[in-house]
Amino acid sequence: MGDLGFMEQKLYIYNTLSRKKELFVPIHENRVGMYVCGPTVYSDVHLGNCRTFISFDLIYRYFLYLGYKVRYVRNITDAGHLEGDRDEGDDKFAKKAKLEQLEPMEIVQKYTIGFHEILNIFNTLPPSIEPTATGHISEQIEIVKKILESGYAYEKSGTIYFDVEKYNKDFDYGILTNRKLDDLLEGTRELGGQDEKKGRLDFALWIKAKPETLMQWPSPWGWGFPGWHLECSAMSSKYLGDTFDIHGGGMDLQATHHTNEIAQSQACNHTAPANYWLHTNMLTVNGVRMSKSAGNGFLPKELFTGNHPLLDKGYSPMTVRFFMAQSHYRSTLDFSNEALQASEKGFGRLMEGYARLQKLKASATSSVDTAGLRTRCEEAMNDDFNSPIVISHLFDALRAINLIHDGKETISEADLKELQSVFKTFIEDVLGLKPESEMGSGNEAYKQAIDLLLNIRLQAKQNKDWATSDKIRNELTALGFEIKDTKDGFEWKI
Ligand code: AMP
Ligand code: ZN
Repeated sequence: MGDLGFMEQKLYIYNTLSRKKELFVPIHENRVGMYVCGPTVYSDVHLGNCRTFISFDLIYRYFLYLGYKVRYVRNITDAGHLEGDRDEGDDKFAKKAKLEQLEPMEIVQKYTIGFHEILNIFNTLPPSIEPTATGHISEQIEIVKKILESGYAYEKSGTIYFDVEKYNKDFDYGILTNRKLDDLLEGTRELGGQDEKKGRLDFALWIKAKPETLMQWPSPWGWGFPGWHLECSAMSSKYLGDTFDIHGGGMDLQATHHTNEIAQSQACNHTAPANYWLHTNMLTVNGVRMSKSAGNGFLPKELFTGNHPLLDKGYSPMTVRFFMAQSHYRSTLDFSNEALQASEKGFGRLMEGYARLQKLKASATSSVDTAGLRTRCEEAMNDDFNSPIVISHLFDALRAINLIHDGKETISEADLKELQSVFKTFIEDVLGLKPESEMGSGNEAYKQAIDLLLNIRLQAKQNKDWATSDKIRNELTALGFEIKDTKDGFEWKI
């Protein structure tokens, strides 16, 4: 943690509700409650989804750095999310289950495991609680009952709808996106004769099941399943209270999912669910939002291997994470080979300098001024988590590191310790970047390549081909590898 201690740190975060940066004041001193909408686990997460979760990982990590005790809740949507985010039609899980001839819960299990695997490769921290929609059906039914009691919902043959126009008489339905109800109504289609809804903006809280519906539960209104928006209201209030500090998600969730969550929570608990609403911007490909439906969704594994028609080559998970940290979470980030290549170079330079920093020798005095680096990095993060500015400060410090390394400048013992600590803190703890050599399965090919070289060296030694064996050892050492001969062969690290 910084010199100041978190009580003195003034953190400003952009609140979608007020459309400006606001000083962050937690509800409970020293503590943060944060809810982030998790993935709908009916298919592989694409890189766009990952951007949102990596952005919130950065935010979570910075709160931890400041010394807050954070309860970070990120749900798993494993029921109730219908095709096209609508109130009728096929459930995404049931559709996939039929397609793959599996149980819906097998679909959920398969893609939940895949999601965790990918986020682990990207070095994101697990949330404190990861609740599932299917594990909170009774909580969701309770909310529906309360909203019915408060008069903001109505039943139509086993389905319960939220009455948006009635709600808007007492509250502001469009508060999150700053839209008036009339404008919103204009943008929606007319109700058809067969529609059960009273109003065009009404949405389902609870949906009546058909006999063939695979996942359904008993309720006071018959067998059915919960609406997608309802699950987040239920799980956030259960673990964080009726009003908590931060609610987050991708920007695409603002207009409907989060707008409806606010309305549900207000109608049920008579209080706004969250004080700060944070939204991450979209990852785009040639300016078009990455999504499954647009057919431009890269899977992280395709990116790591380079196995995709749009990719020139593969990129390591940490290069991709660095690429994401180089843009602010509220800016769009466009995906291209050129941008990734630049990030690969930049990340390599940063990590080279970081490795160099570990080996610098201290002098009696400092001829370079690195004293303000921590404060500058903190100021950048305190300005709505501005990670690109943090990176540019670290790059400024790299110049000093290289000059000290070349013997052109000096640094004292105390300054060196602090510089090493700032680099470790911001690179590893806050930005969540790790040296490639510490990466696990994502970097398997690289590890295998080094093993291969050292096995060739071993063979050369056995053949008394000292020229080859020395060449491999010397050149790897010059690149920064430490090679140790053991009785079973060799060990190496970087
Ligand atoms: P889903 O699994 O579709 O419910 O989405 C999970 C999260 O990923 C949500 O917070 C979305 O807003 C977010 N998301 C979806 N597409 C993108 C994208 N192209 N860029 C950034 N975030 C995205
Ligand atoms: Zn949600």
